Amino acid sequence: MSPNTNLASQDLWHSDQRKPVRGTLARTAILSMRRENSTPKVRLDNVSLNYASDTAAGTLALDRINLRVQPGEFLCIVGPSGCGKSTLLGLIASLQHPTSGTIAIDDEAVSAPGTDRILMFQEHGLFPWLTVSQNVEFGMKMKGLSKAERKEKVRHYLRLVHLSQFQDNRPHQLSGGMRQRVALARALATEPDVLLMDEPFAALDAQTRDMLHDELEKIWAETGCTVIFVTHNVREAVRLGDRVALMTFRPGRVKQEFNVDLPRPRHLEEVEVARTAREILDSLRDEINKSLEAEYAHEQRR
Ligand code: ADP
Ligand code: MG
Repeated sequence: MSPNTNLASQDLWHSDQRKPVRGTLARTAILSMRRENSTPKVRLDNVSLNYASDTAAGTLALDRINLRVQPGEFLCIVGPSGCGKSTLLGLIASLQHPTSGTIAIDDEAVSAPGTDRILMFQEHGLFPWLTVSQNVEFGMKMKGLSKAERKEKVRHYLRLVHLSQFQDNRPHQLSGGMRQRVALARALATEPDVLLMDEPFAALDAQTRDMLHDELEKIWAETGCTVIFVTHNVREAVRLGDRVALMTFRPGRVKQEFNVDLPRPRHLEEVEVARTAREILDSLRDEINKSLEAEYAHEQRR
């Protein structure tokens, strides 16, 4: 694995006058203690995935990925389109299996989906015929929770995403941002240890996305879950992540990792966020060029 690069090592306790996200500072201190010698929440060892095809050798989407994610960490993954980000999340969720290598949660190898991990997509994937509450309740039914427990958790998680008053609405009656918040409540209600997010805010307008960043950060601080958040937006990754892993264009490998030690809450427009993002972007740009070249070559052959 590439060495970590400390881009912004400001002193967390003294550098910022703004009010921290509730619990974030205390949580950060606890986390850094835990990280000293804790078992990784998610561990990938030499994970490769080759999409087989009838005609050729197939597509090597991921090539010997090694990754450690600590309990309660917020890891962002960035990389050009087609570098295998979604594939990687699908593997961690055990929706598909690696061609080689192992994936472990709390040091236990996993090969089947479990309620300890949940995957959230850019498309909210809500059931249009169910109300907001019923959608949130759905995952818990699958998990076998009693009716009383489900009711209580629906109430709690809808309040957390500020949607209590829309509990009886159906998805088509909500804005795009509200639908993503329902999807987030639905994912959180199953109380996963690991929240896997695949470009969840990519289709939203800037204001809604800003608000959801704030909400997600608060929820992460409150619940203590581990988040692996995929995005092609480097600023978003710096806004949210404790660490940013940069992937290469096909085959996807971890090219470099960046620790982001900026105080929270951060804002997309902040100078330090922009500066850190620029450094990551310099490294990402080569990979984006490779992806564009590959696309161009493909066009030429057609
Ligand atoms: P990203 O999410 O980074 O855009 P993906 O994980 O979706 O990338 O895809 C990685 C590579 O694997 C791409 O080249 C894509 O075309 C290929 N790929 C993804 N899914 C499949 C599939 N089901 N069958 C064959 N190839 C696939
Ligand atoms: Mg993708």
